[in-house]
Amino acid sequence: MNKINLMEVCKGANRIGISAHIRPDGDAVGSCLALYHYLKHCMPEAYVKVFLENPPACFSKMKGIEDIDSQFPEQEPFDVFFVLDVAKDQERLGEATKYFEQAKKTVNIDHHISNARGSGDVNYVLPEAAATCQVLFELMDQQWMNAKVAEALYVGIIHDCGVFQYSNTTPRTLEVAANLVSYGFNFSQLIEETFYEKTYLQNQLLGRALMESIRFMEGRCIVSCVDRKTMEFYGATSADLDGIVNQLRNTKGVDCAVFMYEISPMTFKVSLRSNEKLDVSKVAGFFGGGGHVRAAGCTLNGTFHDVINNVSAQIEKWIQ
Ligand code: 5GP
Ligand code: MN
Repeated sequence: MNKINLMEVCKGANRIGISAHIRPDGDAVGSCLALYHYLKHCMPEAYVKVFLENPPACFSKMKGIEDIDSQFPEQEPFDVFFVLDVAKDQERLGEATKYFEQAKKTVNIDHHISNARGSGDVNYVLPEAAATCQVLFELMDQQWMNAKVAEALYVGIIHDCGVFQYSNTTPRTLEVAANLVSYGFNFSQLIEETFYEKTYLQNQLLGRALMESIRFMEGRCIVSCVDRKTMEFYGATSADLDGIVNQLRNTKGVDCAVFMYEISPMTFKVSLRSNEKLDVSKVAGFFGGGGHVRAAGCTLNGTFHDVINNVSAQIEKWIQ
């Protein structure tokens, strides 16, 4: 896919909107804030606005986070509307879909293999990039980079590659990170506060999910589920369940971890993680979801048993 020129794309634009996927993670928040700071820097006259569902509390110290609009008010059509870390047609743009549909020009920047072609008028999708933040870095002109942009890009990268642990980390990911760190920000604190630190509630839910997990396929797969009753009991939101699926996957002998939680009665958000034995983007894709080879997700209806039966049939089909 040919590189795009951000300045060219935004030329003459007075109103620029930015959004990413629902239930935003580090890469969604990081890429939106990075592009926001970047465009404010190089196009100071333009009106630039980020629309995103409420970011998880661990990102609350990130610069510019207070400028994010989570109310999605009616807006005049944007001259340029950026959709980051998601395709419009994957139904994960949520309330920001209306801005996309009204915009004069849409731009889709992403790294999901399930979004190979892109869904905007202008597209740049780089599936080999560890994060959308890494894709954005490739498109940014160093002369407009600053510590605020660098910090936001860094957060997106560390979240999507598990602080350089996951196999999507490439030499290029590390080069980009090295360049970002040179702008000078407290990366140790960022990693601790946004990635590793958990609230007491998160740890309680993690403990419970691990206790109640079930292994199947001779221990090669593991599943755990948090239902609505439990979420209501703890007053938990989806952000409080972040990271549980990764911990399940850390179990010795497990090639595929499945974590699900009930987003509404009999509707489950399913997260999948795997190692080199299975491409979970195929499993999620079968159910209308998507993602990456080793981290993917989808939404399924039915009881817990319906969902795990359907998902495990697909896992069996694809696992080596
Ligand atoms: P998570 O399990 O952390 O929610 O998502 C893992 C990866 O799969 C992320 O890259 C995310 O963007 C993608 N993903 C999760 N759920 C969905 C979904 O419902 N549809 C699509 N297209 N991608 C998803
Ligand atoms: Mn991402």
